[in-house]
Amino acid sequence: MAEFTMELNDEQKEVRDWLHGFAADVIRPAAAEWDEREETPWPVIQEAAKVGIYSLDFYAQQYFDATGLGIPMAMEELFWGDAGIALSIVGTGLAAVGVLANGTEEQIGTWIPQMYGDVNDVKVAAFCSSEPDAGSDVASMRTRAVYDEAKDEWVINGTKTWATNGGIANVHVVVAVVDPELGSKGHASFIIPPNTPGLSQGQKFQKHGIRASHTAEVVLDNVRVPGSCLLGGKEKLDERLARAREKARTGGERVKNAAMATFEASRPAVGAMAVGTARAAYEVALDYARTREQFGRPIIDNQGVAFQLADMRTQIDAARLLVWRASWMAVNGKPFTAAEGSMSKLFASETAKKVTGQAIQILGGNGYTREYPVERMHRDAAIYTIFEGTSEIQRLVIARTLSGMSIR
Ligand SMILES: Cc1cc2nc3c(=O)[nH]c(=O)nc-3n(C[C@H](O)[C@H](O)[C@H](O)COP(=O)(O)OP(=O)(O)OC[C@H]3O[C@@H](n4cnc5c(N)ncnc54)[C@H](O)[C@@H]3O)c2cc1C
Repeated sequence: MAEFTMELNDEQKEVRDWLHGFAADVIRPAAAEWDEREETPWPVIQEAAKVGIYSLDFYAQQYFDATGLGIPMAMEELFWGDAGIALSIVGTGLAAVGVLANGTEEQIGTWIPQMYGDVNDVKVAAFCSSEPDAGSDVASMRTRAVYDEAKDEWVINGTKTWATNGGIANVHVVVAVVDPELGSKGHASFIIPPNTPGLSQGQKFQKHGIRASHTAEVVLDNVRVPGSCLLGGKEKLDERLARAREKARTGGERVKNAAMATFEASRPAVGAMAVGTARAAYEVALDYARTREQFGRPIIDNQGVAFQLADMRTQIDAARLLVWRASWMAVNGKPFTAAEGSMSKLFASETAKKVTGQAIQILGGNGYTREYPVERMHRDAAIYTIFEGTSEIQRLVIARTLSGMSIR
């Protein structure tokens, strides 16, 4: 009989404590420096590679945790350390998941190791979907991939933006339009191998937060890649396009969008990142409120401060529970009938923004300076309500799922 438990098992606790140790000893002490430098923290990524945190094996192990809690637990701990550095460590995973989800075994075996490099020569990878005119509105994508049958090559042209690790990646995964008539159903993903001519980095963005994570435009100018770089292969693509064309022609029943199901399963991981940042700021605030004295007593003696901390902790715990529920559902193949994945990302990201702001308030003037980490955490937290679908898009998805109506 299935047993309900809210407790992590011994193995999970061991992994969590190991990750927490790395986050506390290696990531957190480096956070302020790399935030100021606004550069990819290569030495920290290398340290993560040395201990086995920066590798496909590590993520695969967490991913295959049958409870579903492996990934959210890992994200929470690493992002507790620092969001910018942690994103530099896990950003490659976004591209790797793109290959794992759509690639053939051969593509997985060829490209994923090149995304990570090795301990002595670490590499990163980038997943490039967003464009200047296609952010929330993915169907407006313009980057075009055209098949050159004579050479069995794809020719890709367009400009991607906001790509984490864009331009500095060894391997880029690029989503492009292969059939403009089919909207988002006419997209396909391509591997752009290392040093491919025509791919270049455009503007590197100077950001509000997660500044240790590199974000840039990626320009694709007549980029030619072999047919083998189409993820999943041509035969599968042709079949998928034929089905989509048939549906469009006959106006047949709307096929369930596979991409939406994938998002429901991946969004809790972003929620877990937000929980990590929120928890980090809450802990600093709790500590400060206990020790800072005004009017002859610790500021936590005032309900006005203590109740804020009570609310912060309640919301963080609620966010984690939503994240864990959605992660558990994903691994157990439960249908997301209320868009529970989007719910978890929405609530956790809004919580992180709110809680980090409250932490600044509790630290007073000190909270507003770079002498204390909550200022950075507040800047970092703002990303969670934007990437992997903004809060408005999460609400749209939830409302559409609940109502069955095409709410705009
Ligand atoms: C630091 C960072 C890293 C990123 N990393 C990557 C990456 O690695 N790969 C990648 O492909 N992308 C990445 N992104 C892109 C990210 O996913 C997009 O920024 C996000 O999807 C929003 O798109 P947009 O910025 O174009 O905003 P827009 O879509 O222009 O939205 C602007 C505002 O309008 C609102 N809005 C839009 N449509 C609606 C609607 N229908 N109803 C209500 N409100 C609406 C939005 O919620 C938002 O508040 C990254 C972004 C950032 C900032």
